Amino acid sequence: MKYLDEYRDPKIAQALVEQIRARVTRRWVLMEICGGQTHTLMRYGIDGLVAPGVELVHGPGCPVCVTALEVVDKAVAIASRPDVTFASYGDMLRVPGSHADLFRVKAAGGDVRIVYSPMDALKLARAMPERKVVFFAVGFETTAPANAMAVWQAHREGLANFSALVSHVLVPPAIRLLLQSPANRVQGFIAPGHVCTVMGYREYEALASEFHVPMVVGGFEPLDLLEAILMLVGQLEDGRAEVENQYARSVTREGNAGARRIMERVFEVSGRKWRGIGEIAQSGYRLRPKFAVHDAEKVFGLETITAEEPAECISALVLQGLKKPPDCTAFGTRCTPDTPMGAPMVSSEGACAAYYVYRRHELLTLAGD
Ligand code: SF4
Repeated sequence: MKYLDEYRDPKIAQALVEQIRARVTRRWVLMEICGGQTHTLMRYGIDGLVAPGVELVHGPGCPVCVTALEVVDKAVAIASRPDVTFASYGDMLRVPGSHADLFRVKAAGGDVRIVYSPMDALKLARAMPERKVVFFAVGFETTAPANAMAVWQAHREGLANFSALVSHVLVPPAIRLLLQSPANRVQGFIAPGHVCTVMGYREYEALASEFHVPMVVGGFEPLDLLEAILMLVGQLEDGRAEVENQYARSVTREGNAGARRIMERVFEVSGRKWRGIGEIAQSGYRLRPKFAVHDAEKVFGLETITAEEPAECISALVLQGLKKPPDCTAFGTRCTPDTPMGAPMVSSEGACAAYYVYRRHELLTLAGD
């Protein structure tokens, strides 16, 4: 296939659904890791098409959603300083911290700017040597190469007024945590295609073998996801636990060697706190000591800030696939995209936002019956 709409062909989709139904002999619980995949599943009603033989639960793969509350608080503290220009991707501005979000800081006169690339933040640092320019470097392995490149370039140019507030998270340790949990229900994973484009899928082979759980690297279009589900169901029905690559037009086993090289030069693996989940060992990146002058946490002395999650928000359970957004008592009432209580309702990739956008009317109708 060559064009995007071919990956949305209804006839091929129907044929794949029929193949899935024909293959299933019992109910299987599968998890898609990535928030982009969750939105496609909800938008096209794929979860309903493959039920009841396949139950889809939604994983922690939305970078905005898993950015720890205390990291947002640190961003707010830094951005509120009069000597700082704070640069961020737009979707981080509405993520609620303990007391404020970055939009509020901007409304109160803070110099908060939306950028589309860390290189835009570098340009700001070059253009305004009198200001401290801080880039909010969040995301999974997908955004890490460009963020690493920005820090590496700043270091090379001696741009001491550029720093990054780094909160990168890594997917395989989160999958390991899910699989180790006694409450785990997931029997197969659709691995995140964009992350694997950078990292390859060797790490997933180790997980599949250790936990005897099948994984299929999946893309983001409806036919990608249906094919990935069919491949997973095939493995489960055969009793196999391998890594297969459905997203071969983008992913290779080794990933992008150049991207991985720059990440390894600039970042080192560290423990990382995930919003709603807590600390996961070896699940994040931090800047190597060589780049300490560009590490915003060190530059602004904010390493000790901590914060507690709101008790009503069950995003921890949602992000681990143990509950679905409508199970939350605040869903669609006290928590909406306009008044989000938790990060999964803020981000366009969040599971709560996906249910709100694509399923709210359906759910309200059912509740009214
Ligand atoms: S609906 Fe809102 S409060 Fe409930 S889990 Fe989702 S983000 Fe948290």
